[in-house]
Amino acid sequence: MARETTSPLLKKWLEDVRKANRRVDLDYISHAYRFSEQAHRQQQRRSGEVFLTHPMAVALELASLHLDTTTVAAGLLHDILEDTPVNNEQLTEEFGPQVTFLVEGVTKIGGFRFRSREEVQAENFRKMLLSMAQDLRIILIKLADRLHNMRTIEHLDRRHARRIAHETIDIYVPLAHRFGINRIKIELENLALSVLHPEEHKLLEEALELDKRKRMKALGGVRKPIQRALKEAGIRAEIAWRLKSYYSIHIKMQRRGVELEDIYDIMALRIITSDKASCYHVMGIAHSLFVPISARFKDFIANPKTNMYQSIHTTIIGPNGEPVEIQIRTREMHRVAEEGIAAHWKYKSGKADSKPSPWDEQVKWVREVIELQTGEADAQEFMEHLKLELFENEVYSFTPAGDVIRLPADATPLDFAFAVHTDVGMHCQGAKVNGRIVPLSERLKSGNTVEILTSPNQHPNQSWLRLVKTARARSKINRYLREQQSEQSARLGHELLAREMKKARLKQPAKEKFTDLAQSFGFETIEGLYESLGRGTHSATHVIDKLLPPRTEEEATQEGFIQRLVERARSTVRGVSVQGEGNMMINFAHCCQPIPGDQILGYVTRGRGVTVHRSDCPNVLRILEEEDRMIDVTWDTEKDQAFMVGITMTAQDRMSLLGDVGRAISSLGANIRNANISSEAGEAVGRFVLEVRNLQHLQRVLKNVKKVKGVERVERLAGGIDVT
Ligand code: MN
Repeated sequence: MARETTSPLLKKWLEDVRKANRRVDLDYISHAYRFSEQAHRQQQRRSGEVFLTHPMAVALELASLHLDTTTVAAGLLHDILEDTPVNNEQLTEEFGPQVTFLVEGVTKIGGFRFRSREEVQAENFRKMLLSMAQDLRIILIKLADRLHNMRTIEHLDRRHARRIAHETIDIYVPLAHRFGINRIKIELENLALSVLHPEEHKLLEEALELDKRKRMKALGGVRKPIQRALKEAGIRAEIAWRLKSYYSIHIKMQRRGVELEDIYDIMALRIITSDKASCYHVMGIAHSLFVPISARFKDFIANPKTNMYQSIHTTIIGPNGEPVEIQIRTREMHRVAEEGIAAHWKYKSGKADSKPSPWDEQVKWVREVIELQTGEADAQEFMEHLKLELFENEVYSFTPAGDVIRLPADATPLDFAFAVHTDVGMHCQGAKVNGRIVPLSERLKSGNTVEILTSPNQHPNQSWLRLVKTARARSKINRYLREQQSEQSARLGHELLAREMKKARLKQPAKEKFTDLAQSFGFETIEGLYESLGRGTHSATHVIDKLLPPRTEEEATQEGFIQRLVERARSTVRGVSVQGEGNMMINFAHCCQPIPGDQILGYVTRGRGVTVHRSDCPNVLRILEEEDRMIDVTWDTEKDQAFMVGITMTAQDRMSLLGDVGRAISSLGANIRNANISSEAGEAVGRFVLEVRNLQHLQRVLKNVKKVKGVERVERLAGGIDVT
């Protein structure tokens, strides 16, 4: 066939196609172009342009997704069957069955309206999935078609434009997302936002432009050191910015009710490397330069998303204290992140590939979705299923009665229980998913039927907070725990005071006197005072003080001194790490003053962090039943760190006894912080507050003191440093 003269428009376009994809057969494409031009010659776009500009744009988009010649040709011809007199036979004669098949598929989808009655919508969707399942290239053509229509949507009237924009958000954006075609997804979202919320779109555009410079400056403080370190390590990598899409920002602002300034990941640093190993190397470098926020770390390289997305996401604290997100991926991963399934399209090489390709897996997924709608399943149910399959950020599960419960991804049966009813949540004892008993930590999947098992004796506990994902469940559990805690604190406070009163040989005062007492501490009732004692806000000794006759000044000074020592020690001491919780506030328990080497337990106190007790502390034995407030703690001391401990000694009183005992202690490197000896009828009783490094150290000290002439008994104070 002689080469026809080529118009400048065609020439320019062919050049663009060639640039986008060198593997496309330009002769074949030129032929499809002329055929399409001829068929559509009577038509115009609403914009007044010749109609052909539309299929040209669609085909170019497909070429830039690196799809094959057949698909690009089908893009040029996609509206032919619907809008022109050309029929299937003519098309097949000219371009063969493959192109015709694709064009037919797109044509079928084209007739669907997705904003209709549920049944019609479901049926249309099912048909679309059926065509997609036969060949996924159909949906890629449809997405390219929708993209160009959205790009030129300003020529439609407002009502029509809004319908198209809604349909785009509801149907095409989720499909683009599910198949990982991020580039198209983001553009579709932004275009839809500009139609549906034009003012907001404009505001965002302006705000982001202003904001960008500020943010880029902040990111520079992270980028430069990383760039330098990469160079030193000999890693070749491109560093770029990525800007969050307007639509994602819009959704985030709406859902969380936050302002633009509060969204920290609007701009992220994106580092693209040549191979997978370098990704982890880059991550290591970033983490050695800046402190990472561990909760934000995600390894999508090891665990790709269902849409095949791979990347490492980490958020670090920048030099000015602002969080900065960094995404690290290889060039190939980047391509998949932008083009999704299209990136996996392979030209038929003739070689049979035994390994299932991601393409096959996506087809399988589409088939599975279609199978959801078999038999009597109604349209609404099908749509629910479909939506949950498409929106992977949400999980839709069902009650045994068939009601749909929508939850965020990673939600657990406990979230489900609270979503059904507060009472169900409060008494949730276990759960069955699809008839099988599962732990409450199980992550629900879309389509699960969840049955909650309840028991009137079951109540929320602290560990539940770690299981739930929804704000609703969290706040209900928290409220319960707070109430519970008041009760428990009051009970504990009551016991503590009773014990101290017994020690001080005080009788229970009359009720009015007790109420007066509570009021002198600023509480209306004695319950309030008990609660405060239980929480440790007030100490029982202070309460006793008010009940006791006034003491001598000397006594008071002595007590105050020890109290101050203990307080100081408590506020400065570190040396314990709490498993699974960062940055916990640590206190050492008054009652038993643990030192390294002691078996210890942490007790979670709201607002006061973790109190560390010896595991054999009598107070711990009492609170042990509140298992959920116990937390594992381990010693994590630094060299030369000192811990306070009290010892008591009885000896036959003699000259220079105190001096000898003192030397026995300090010769082993233990500091004496306080010493107090009283003597009665030839027997001396001494109490010392020492600083030791650990249990072993203490034991050596005790042994040494025991050797001092006249010492009969020496031991660690059972109740720790007791000031009463
Ligand atoms: Mn079209």
